[in-house]
Amino acid sequence: MLNIPASYDDSRARFLSYAERIRDLWPAARFDAHPLAFDPSVSIDWCSAEAIERKDRLFILTTGLHGIEGYLGAAMLDLFVNDYLPRFDPAASGILLVHAVNPWGMKHWRRNNPYNVDLNRNFCDPSALKNINPDYDPLFDFLNPSGPLKSVVYSTARFAWQTVSTIRRFGVKRIREATLMGQYRHPEGIYFGGVEMQEETEVMQSLFQDAITGYAQVTHLDMHTAYGPRHQMTLVNSPRERMTSVETASRFGVPRVAAANPDEFYTIHGDMTDYLYALVREKSPSTKIYSGTFEFGTFGDSLIAGIRSLRITILKNQANLFGANPAAQAWIDEEYRELYLPADPAWRAKAEADGRQAFEGILQAEGFIS
Ligand SMILES: [Zn+2]
Repeated sequence: MLNIPASYDDSRARFLSYAERIRDLWPAARFDAHPLAFDPSVSIDWCSAEAIERKDRLFILTTGLHGIEGYLGAAMLDLFVNDYLPRFDPAASGILLVHAVNPWGMKHWRRNNPYNVDLNRNFCDPSALKNINPDYDPLFDFLNPSGPLKSVVYSTARFAWQTVSTIRRFGVKRIREATLMGQYRHPEGIYFGGVEMQEETEVMQSLFQDAITGYAQVTHLDMHTAYGPRHQMTLVNSPRERMTSVETASRFGVPRVAAANPDEFYTIHGDMTDYLYALVREKSPSTKIYSGTFEFGTFGDSLIAGIRSLRITILKNQANLFGANPAAQAWIDEEYRELYLPADPAWRAKAEADGRQAFEGILQAEGFIS
């Protein structure tokens, strides 16, 4: 069964407890932490270990880039450490395991950091992206209602009415793209990518830069929840990946692969996996790179599921900004948790099975385990 931690602090303590087991394999493995400047009670924690004899390959696992998604991410990390890491060959393989890229968001059960920045839109120069996504502006009032949230019933009715008229004006595809692509002009709006690079982003970029040095191959997996069908994990390829989705599915033996483009998934700017491709290709062009995202779908991929997910995203942001009465807040918190970490045991069991299938297939194909 998946070991989903109850809190950020529990999860971090469990991560640190892996030290002994990891040092049995890599005696020189290091655990480091970067406490955040704006809240030193939380930290980005990582374990790094270099290949002992020759740097054939490096495996990177990152979790909690979207804070609240770090609960399932930590469970996948636990699965990996228990069942897959012992099969690695420390002589030829190195590792970098990162617990909670967005620790503040994980601790507070939020997707973004305290500045409302979606960190997976921030691995770029945000000032260069200021003018992308012009469709976001005419949608701003629909996506970002103002004022305290008094009643979920009233807000839902208003949202439903506005959804119908907005779909009529813009069409579903344009709304989906405009919301999910990220925007760099409205710090209070949903899917904000920042006006400057965030501390968490800088920490990760320098970690990646140090870690990849000298390796012939780098394989990176980043753990996420919410998008895609409810009962099938999607492996999401970066637009920079040269394998097609069909080739990826066959190489890794996983049933569902999507490329991050408007036809298969959606367009993202400032994505962490994109950054890693660009970094490796620039600093070490002969190094082979695969960087992909596990997306464990929650509400599902129907239009209704998309609308349900947009509703809670809007209401949660409104409550964060303007407050909500206690009954509305309780409903919002529960619905928001369901979006990122469903309570249903059947969902969790399928997530575990899908995670295992993907770890097994990818780690074998990439030569980490046999
Ligand atoms: Zn995510």
